[in-house]
This record gives sequence, C-alpha cells and structure tokens, in this order.
Amino acid sequence: KVRVRFAPSPTGGLHLGGVRTVLYNYLFARHHGGEFVLRIEDTDQSRYVPGAEEYIYETLEWCGLVPDESPLKGGPYGPYRQSERKPMYRPYAERLVAAGQAYYAFDTPEELDAMRSELRTDANPNPQYDGQVRARMRNSLSLPPDEVQRLLDAGTPHVVRIKMPPGETVTLTDMIRGDVSFDTSTVDDKVLLKADGMPTYHLAVVVDDHLMKITHAFRGEEWLPSAPVHILLWRYLFGEDAMPQWAHLPLILGPSGKLSKRDGARYGFPVFAANWTDPKSNELTEGFRERGFLPEAFVNLLALLGWNDGTDQELFSLEELVERFSIQKVHKGGAQFNFEKAQWFNHEWIKRSSPARLLPEVKALFQSKGWDTKDDAFLETVIGLVKERCTLLADFVPQAGFFFEQPSSYDSASFIAKWTPEKAAFFERLADTFGQEPDVADADREAAFKSAAEAAAIKPGELQLPLRVMLVGGKFGPPVFTIAGLLGGAETAARIRKALA
Ligand code: GLU
Repeated sequence: KVRVRFAPSPTGGLHLGGVRTVLYNYLFARHHGGEFVLRIEDTDQSRYVPGAEEYIYETLEWCGLVPDESPLKGGPYGPYRQSERKPMYRPYAERLVAAGQAYYAFDTPEELDAMRSELRTDANPNPQYDGQVRARMRNSLSLPPDEVQRLLDAGTPHVVRIKMPPGETVTLTDMIRGDVSFDTSTVDDKVLLKADGMPTYHLAVVVDDHLMKITHAFRGEEWLPSAPVHILLWRYLFGEDAMPQWAHLPLILGPSGKLSKRDGARYGFPVFAANWTDPKSNELTEGFRERGFLPEAFVNLLALLGWNDGTDQELFSLEELVERFSIQKVHKGGAQFNFEKAQWFNHEWIKRSSPARLLPEVKALFQSKGWDTKDDAFLETVIGLVKERCTLLADFVPQAGFFFEQPSSYDSASFIAKWTPEKAAFFERLADTFGQEPDVADADREAAFKSAAEAAAIKPGELQLPLRVMLVGGKFGPPVFTIAGLLGGAETAARIRKALA
C-alpha cells in the first residue's frame, strides 16, 4: 500500500515550495489509493518557532490537502511529532555503534571550533568531520577503549556520528532524476544523535520512514546531498531494499534564483500560502489567501510549477489533478514562478466557479466593509453579474460595491457630456416614474425608459450612460437595467435624485 509523508520542520511559515511538496505527496497518495501522513520534524529545538505547527494545519486545511494521519488526527503509527518519539531513536544509534558503523564523539564545541579554524584554508573553507579528521578528534574510534568507557561512565556529553566509509560509490535511483551517484569520501561523519539524546534529522527521517511504513518519499532537492547518509543508514539498519522510493523535487525559482521571501517583498507578490507573522521579528509576510486567491486556483498553479500532464491543459481541479498526476512527469529543472500567471489562474478560477462557491469569501469580504449583504440569493446574483471582471477576490469590492452603497463620486466627464436642461428634466420625470413603481421587471423598466426618451425627443443612447453613472458612479458594471432592477425602484429613484442635486 502506498504511504507518503510530508515532514516539515516547524521553523516558519510554509512557502510555495513547501506547499507544493504537500500537494505532490497528496496527489500521489490519492492517485494510488494510498495514505498521506503528516509528520512534524521538531527535533531541532533551537530552530523551533511557536505557531509554525498551527500554521501548517491551517494552511493544509485551506488548500484542502488534509492528511490521513497527523499529530492532530493521530493514527496507527503515532506519535507523529518527533520530539514525542525521542526514546525510540537511541536504540538504533546504539545498534550502529555496536556494529562499528557509528561512533561516540566527545568533542566539545570549543574543540570543534579549534579544529575548524586550524584546518580552514581558501581551498577548504568548511573543514568537515571526516575520515581524515576523525583520527585527531576525541571519539570512540580514536581513543583507547578504557578511556571511552571512563568518559561514558562519567556521563561526559557526547554525540553519535555515522562513520562514512572511504571511497565508496553510493547510488540513488530517484523517481525524477534517475540514477544519482555520490562518492562517500565527500560526505562528512554526520551527527545522528545529539548530546541531549535527540536524533538529528538524518537518523530520525530514516527511523520514522521505516516505522511509519513509508513507501515513497518526496522532498526538496536541497536534500539531495544528504541522500548518501540516508542510503547507508537504510542499508545498515533495515536493508536498502526496504528503503522508500525517493523523489527530489526541483526548486521554485524567483526573479533572482531560488524563490525567497525577499523576492516577494521586492516585487510585491506573496510567497506564503497564508499570512505569516514571524514571532521573532514580528514581521508579516503576505499570503496568497489574504491577497485574494481561491484555494482551487492556488493548488492549480502550484501543481503546474514543475509538472504538466503532457498536454496544453492548464486548468485542473483537485480531482482532475489526482487523476492525471504522475511523479515521473515532474520536471528536473527548476520551475519559474510568475505572478502574472498566478493571477491568470485565479481569474480563470473565479470565472469558472459558481456564485454559490464564491459566496462565503465574497460575503466575508463585504461584511468586513460593513455592508448589509442582504440575503444570499441576492448576493449570488450580484456575484454572478460581476465575477468575469474579477481577478482577485478583492476586485469584488470595486466591481460590486455600488449594490451596497451609493456612489460617493461620479465620473463627471461621462455624466455631463452634452448635458442639457431637457435631459435634467427627463431624469427628474424618470425618478418619479421609477419611484412610483418599485417592483417592475427589468424589461418593463427599460421599455418605460425608452418611451419616456421618445416622448422627450432625446436619443435613448445619450441617456443610458448618464443613468449608469448616476447609479454606479462610473462607466462600468453589468447592464444598466439589470442594476436598476436589483437596486429596486425606490433606490434607483433616490440615486437619480442625489446625482441631479
Ligand atoms: N524536515 C525536513 C524539512 O523540513 C523534511 C525533509 C524530508 O521530507 O525528508 O524540510
């Protein structure tokens, strides 16, 4: 049975790349009738950010990508928060030490710093703890056994490091990239278990993917260099054949390389799913949700950042994506994010969504303006009339606001063009007529308008634009008699009189 996991560290808001990883996991699981697990990787307590975990739940909920198992929901392989699984990891680390595949290292932070500054050169700016360095440091491979025992008995703080074998080629068969080979000599002896007994990511990811029976693991390509460590851990602990199939997802690129928060701030587009306020800096980064994107559009545009189904189709519902998605069709190269295109997706989704679907968002928006949105049927009619003109949800405010409040200013150029006393008189009479017949059909109102124009010997075409400006304030909006019909006779009359005054 296919089982996938999204395994974020709660270190901040979820940006586009993170949500796309969730989405590809979700699509793959659903496509194969499998299960989608959310695991919180919070073993690095120094990077823990309060609120980040809640933010992840809220975002997945908004996107409609709710996991089958998670810290919130529970499940058969819990707990799903690594900090709560702390006692499970040490036995695996000890097993590796006993087999000679890992070792205890007693070096203090000062000793590590001293080693690094001594070995640092222009050619080697970041000296690693590797096979060469290992011999000169204080660890269970370099010290005599009785000294190691003495240090352990004394409770000396220590970590467990993997012993990278020298000069071996380790190969990963990646679902997107095919075979990728690594020379083990270039990888250092990564810490597996920290002095506080917490596992590092490297040990925890392997142990948990095993215990949670994960069959396929997708993560950002920034993790590719760690793959040899994970492959060796799988080989040593559970057998390489049991390893999940890996796919390393391409980066999402912004105008200046990897898409970053800075690109968002600089070019004025959101890079987070929903608003994220960093509790450390109190800095707010805008989200797609708050910018007025529909979750359907957001999910659709994310899916297409690095994938397509081989046809020209660009608009996909989540169900269609589930049906068509294939991880092999994810592109190897980075995907270019383009905010214009993102807006295009939203515009298309607003157009293809029913007024009933758009009602909750638009209603909340209008109520935040203090408008009386009347009954839902009325609001749905309004939404249906203007949605073609809206790119972001916020556009419903200028496009439909006149249904809820009288115009406060008028596009006077259109209004006064060739204005005459006869026209003013016509509109005064029209206000009286409309005011007396509050509930007539749009067509009848239009007919009444036309015959009144004829009686006044003015071309109806010259009167329609002023009427529109009187009702909405400008040269825009749905057909003018539809507007008058929705406003009702009394309100239409009141607006004409207000504009004439
Ligand atoms: N905890 C890692 C992260 O935050 C997850 C990497 C993985 O999916 O294996 O990106």
